[in-house]
Amino acid sequence: MPALDICVIGSGFAGLSAATCLADQGHNVILLEKNKTIGGRARKLEADGFMFDMGPSWYWMPDVFDRYFALFGKKPSDYYHLKRLDPSYTVVFDKDDHMKVPAKMSELEALFESLEKGAGKKLQAFLSQAEYKYEVGINDLVYKPSRSLLEFIDPRLLKGLVKMDVFQSMHSHVRKFFTNDKLIRLMEFPVLFLGAIPENTPALYSLMNYADMSLGTWYPEGGMYKVIEAMVSLAEEKGVKILTDHEVEKIVAKNGKAESVLTAKGAFKADVVVAGADYHHVDQHLLDYEHRNYSPKYWEKRTMAPSSLLFYIGLNKKLKNITHHMLFFDEDFGPHAKEIYETPDWPSNPLFYLSATSVTDDTVAPKGCENLILLIPVAPGLKDDEATREKYYNIIMDRLEILIGQEVKNHVVFKQSYAHNDFIKDYHAFRGNAYGLANTLKQTAILKPSLKNRYLKNLYYTGQLTVPGPGVPPTLISGQVVANEIKKDFVR
Ligand SMILES: Cc1cc2nc3c(=O)[nH]c(=O)nc-3n(C[C@H](O)[C@H](O)[C@H](O)COP(=O)(O)OP(=O)(O)OC[C@H]3O[C@@H](n4cnc5c(N)ncnc54)[C@H](O)[C@@H]3O)c2cc1C
Repeated sequence: MPALDICVIGSGFAGLSAATCLADQGHNVILLEKNKTIGGRARKLEADGFMFDMGPSWYWMPDVFDRYFALFGKKPSDYYHLKRLDPSYTVVFDKDDHMKVPAKMSELEALFESLEKGAGKKLQAFLSQAEYKYEVGINDLVYKPSRSLLEFIDPRLLKGLVKMDVFQSMHSHVRKFFTNDKLIRLMEFPVLFLGAIPENTPALYSLMNYADMSLGTWYPEGGMYKVIEAMVSLAEEKGVKILTDHEVEKIVAKNGKAESVLTAKGAFKADVVVAGADYHHVDQHLLDYEHRNYSPKYWEKRTMAPSSLLFYIGLNKKLKNITHHMLFFDEDFGPHAKEIYETPDWPSNPLFYLSATSVTDDTVAPKGCENLILLIPVAPGLKDDEATREKYYNIIMDRLEILIGQEVKNHVVFKQSYAHNDFIKDYHAFRGNAYGLANTLKQTAILKPSLKNRYLKNLYYTGQLTVPGPGVPPTLISGQVVANEIKKDFVR
């Protein structure tokens, strides 16, 4: 089989992963990215000596990254240096109630025991179930292309169906083990990464607690963007040609095949097209009507994961008593979750997250300074304007100052906000979503938008809106899954 000419659209984790795997199979791969910089939602922002990772900041599931680089005979350490964070993160319940979550299991069990008698032992039992789910889920299920239910008729999966907890919610699962409110909130927090509330998330996803507590929270020195740099270096080593500032405007198709992709700078002929840009955008805006996998109604009915209001902030001083990751759970999540999922609106009393990588890394801020990223999860599709952003900036800055007991606002020397309008402008994000589709039971595996176009036999999709789902590890896997499907379909 001669090498195919393959066009990959989008340079996020999924596009880079797909392009590299396909080039490694011997194909001629061109990757087209609309923005001037690479990395998609994981781009970096550099200004006034500060460096901010614009999107992902949590490096979880290091084994998934190890496996990716091992495909090419490499290791993450060939490109970046990983450090395990300890504490993994801090949960702030109140001004004088900061829970530092230790990396060491014995210390974590002691923390659980101190909050609820017997909870140390229960944590062991909880994590041992979660480990099974992680092994089956992350080593097996997420690599399935989900093109047919038959893929899931596998004795190991069927035998383990009960253990996989697909039909119980995280909400009830966690409460079977713990009664202490703080422990419940701690155990439910990783579910927020999946873009849904614990009540609507299958308990299968307690595998995220295993990732959090057993595998740990890591940090690539220099920032998450180091991972993108590593992937770009590997992609180029494999021969992928990356063209930035090349927005794809149309996928041209004839006789049941995508023939080329059009950009303002010219057309690119392709034997195969892999769309790593937001699925909704590709489906509804780059394809002719008769080649779209889904209708506008289908998209309207999807449960999108939240969008985010972010502030990238540079301070001219160091803060005391802060850690690399901090979750501010001083407000009840119930009403905020309702304002994200049920009655979408700007939150009345938002929970928020702070990342300060300069606590760990002195290369990301000028000497004596701190870089802060503040993130409020919000409903997608909200009206986003400067006045609203400013209102929330003041709300969370005031709360932050009280909760960490020191002045912050007067020390801000750099500030940039980012929300719905930016997600749409930069990534063509459907309703300004940040994290793609929510991982609800009705949007899992074969119920997700398919990785293959129904009408064009050489058009595939990858990324956080198709299988296996949102997050850096899943999108890294998504690129590998689609490259394997192309190998099966085209190479005989
Ligand atoms: C604020 C935020 C925080 C996050 N935090 C974490 C975290 O801590 N840990 C974690 O694991 N995950 C996190 N995530 C999720 C994770 O970052 C994403 O799931 C992942 O990066 C998505 O990768 P992707 O390749 O699917 O999409 P993208 O990164 O969005 O890549 C798609 C690319 O396609 C390009 N594109 C779009 N349209 C076109 C076009 N017409 N022509 C050419 N190119 C086009 C876009 O510019 C973009 O570069 C976070 C996401 C956000 C936004």
